[in-house]
Amino acid sequence: PEEELDPEEAALREKLAAYRGVWVFIEQTEGEAAKVSWELLGKGKELAAARNCPLSAVVMGDQVEHLCRQAMGYGAETVYLMDAPVLRHYRTEAYQKSLCALVEKYKPEVILMGATGLGRDLAGVVATVLATGLTADCTGLSIDKGNLMQTRPAFGGNIMATIVCDKFRPQMSTVRPHVMPMPEFDASLKGEIVREPVPVAEDEVQVKVLDILMDKGGSKVDIAGAEFIISGGRGMMAKENFGLLEELAEVLGGVVGASRSAVDAGWMPQDRQVGQTGKTVRPKVYIACGISGAIQHLVGMQDSDVVIAINRDPEAPIFEVASYGIVGDLFQVIPSLTAKLKAL
Ligand code: FAD
Repeated sequence: PEEELDPEEAALREKLAAYRGVWVFIEQTEGEAAKVSWELLGKGKELAAARNCPLSAVVMGDQVEHLCRQAMGYGAETVYLMDAPVLRHYRTEAYQKSLCALVEKYKPEVILMGATGLGRDLAGVVATVLATGLTADCTGLSIDKGNLMQTRPAFGGNIMATIVCDKFRPQMSTVRPHVMPMPEFDASLKGEIVREPVPVAEDEVQVKVLDILMDKGGSKVDIAGAEFIISGGRGMMAKENFGLLEELAEVLGGVVGASRSAVDAGWMPQDRQVGQTGKTVRPKVYIACGISGAIQHLVGMQDSDVVIAINRDPEAPIFEVASYGIVGDLFQVIPSLTAKLKAL
């Protein structure tokens, strides 16, 4: 027999059942997609399969149809395209109105976005306007009993919390770049492009983009995209000692990263920080030098293919996630490692 539901519960279930499908917002700048969008399509495919529903992408911009084909190659079955000059540059108001109109029309069950500057801004305002929940900076996503289980660090990274938005739709999450693996591109995959009218006129948008200036101040190194990262922590003892890591990085064709302690000490710039309040990285090889392995550091690097830890304390927690551990003084180990590699 059908279970008896109280009218409130029945109305809620009916409201939620109207939403279907997993959407990934494709972030683009000057017609080039942010890699995190493709990573999310990879994850989205898995979620859509678990939910037995379609995977779709949303592309917004000006002359960005080429991105629809890319999205299909990464698994999107349908791509909703809003293409107009008013969407050329990201502006909160224009993008929010456009995305909300799409959501209200098609009612997706899940929306994923990159936890980038743009994604964090857009997801927050869209969730507020739609009066639904948003979980920021997720590190894990799965489906359980029809709900999206959203895992993220909480209480300063000391626990991993799983958050469920069980009374509102759509369920929205942002995910940092490099947290999800990059899917394979398959040019033979086909999908459908659904062109949608853009519901915003230029004179309704209060923000005008006059010019775009590149940041000349910061270091040009993108640690998030590097294949080899050599990171230093408090054990490096001083700024000058990072030269040892630069030398090793040069031999390996990698870049130098840092723990928060090293950044707080002023030894490295903030854009090199790995971890919960820094960047999430997923290199082929991550070498942690004089880093203890606090949970807030681990959440930013534990998905690296190979982790090598150099630490003089055999009990350091970094060894728990390390593929290879060297217990020793980094001031001896690193120069000899660099010399050996140079000799190859
Ligand atoms: P320590 O913990 O002091 O470790 C230094 C290590 O160096 C020790 O294990 C020691 O044995 C080793 N060592 C010393 N000398 C040598 C030597 N000669 N040879 C070999 N080994 C040596 N941290 C981050 O890294 N990233 C973050 O994004 C981040 N976000 C945070 C967010 C919050 C809300 C909080 C509360 C903290 C955050 N932290 C973050 C800080 C984090 O908790 C740790 O304090 C920090 O990661 C420790 O940095 P460390 O490993 O370099 O230093």
